[in-house]
Amino acid sequence: LTARIAGEGAAAWNIHYRALARQQAGEDITVLSVGDPDFTTPTRIMDAARDSLYAGNTHYADVQGKVALREAIVNHYRKYGVTASPDQLIVLAGAQCGLYATAQCLLDPGDEVIVPEPSYVTYEAVIQSTGAQLVRVALQADRGFQLDVGDIAAAITPNTRAILLNSPHNPTGSCIEPDQWLAIAELCRAHDLWLISDEVYSDLVFEVSHTCAASLTGIEDRTVVISSLSKSHAMTGWRLGWVMGPPALINHLSNLALCMLYGCPDFIQDAGIAALSGDHRELEQMRDAYRQRRDAICEALTGSDAVSAVPPAAGMFVMVDIRRTGLSSGEFADRLLDEHGVSVLSGEAFGPSAAGFVRLSLTQSPESLKQASLRLRQCAEACLSTNSECL
Ligand code: PMP
Ligand code: GLN
Repeated sequence: LTARIAGEGAAAWNIHYRALARQQAGEDITVLSVGDPDFTTPTRIMDAARDSLYAGNTHYADVQGKVALREAIVNHYRKYGVTASPDQLIVLAGAQCGLYATAQCLLDPGDEVIVPEPSYVTYEAVIQSTGAQLVRVALQADRGFQLDVGDIAAAITPNTRAILLNSPHNPTGSCIEPDQWLAIAELCRAHDLWLISDEVYSDLVFEVSHTCAASLTGIEDRTVVISSLSKSHAMTGWRLGWVMGPPALINHLSNLALCMLYGCPDFIQDAGIAALSGDHRELEQMRDAYRQRRDAICEALTGSDAVSAVPPAAGMFVMVDIRRTGLSSGEFADRLLDEHGVSVLSGEAFGPSAAGFVRLSLTQSPESLKQASLRLRQCAEACLSTNSECL
């Protein structure tokens, strides 16, 4: 087995699978360890898939993606001030597939990719699979995990090939601000770097508006935006996403897609057209629900001397600071599951800068999140008092 496909990514979800197994065995477990929306995909989208399937769309589809879907994606980007054309898009099986394919097309052994850390757990293996290396730049917990562009600049070497950013960010929910984007664009231009922007949470913004990397001027020939319908439309299981970038890269990706995928299923692409073309009220309702859920967690943790939430401006996760408990985030997550029946992910799974934090997913009702947060608080406060007794 090649050591290139290494990385800690897959291990991050071990606790999640343990929680699911216990839940299936009948235990009362609240699962907050994965970013998979609990909403069912809106009915009109499912209807579109069924109608397309029964209309006989069971054959190979366009490898680059149906033109009508690529046009719908182009329209979707207008709200971010992006004017693209369908030849700048390829439809792939989710953003994950887009990230992997993009890495194969852009990176060579010895290249370096700068990634703010904590970061989404698959990035390391994706980058390493090409022989390139991930170079971490810490997002400081005490600055609310906000990016410092100066740190990115300082990490650039002659081997740097790309900067990979994720805004809104998994796991912290932090967002890159417009002036930071301008500074990043300038770095990419000055140092001849690709900007790879993972924007899967772009539609789940609460107090901020999303800046799409493709709206930056002067770096259009080196900007790649990767996204999907997984989070915005509660469609994780449909596996539908895309890569938007310069046509030369898209041609390259199409060649790769020919070898590895041969097109996303036609009827699923039709569901994607319905998702992007229809009434967006249900999306707004989901986004409002995530906001209420975030507030329920933050409220339940307010005033605790053992834990505090870092309220995210976007995304579908809340990071909770458990440093005062004296446990590592892995130990705390284990104890919370074993003794209080709540599963969360350890911050360390996302990188050393999130040590001392755990990540809660906003994928349950506000009431259930409130109960789970109170259990988390109880667990942390018990650790704190044990700690103080030991001192
Ligand atoms: N990027 C980030 C930051 C994610 O959190 C995820 C997981 N949803 C993905 C990419 C992969 O998303 P998809 O389901 O579209 O493959
Ligand atoms: N992106 C989701 C998360 O961060 C899960 C995706 C997965 O299970 N691979 O939890």
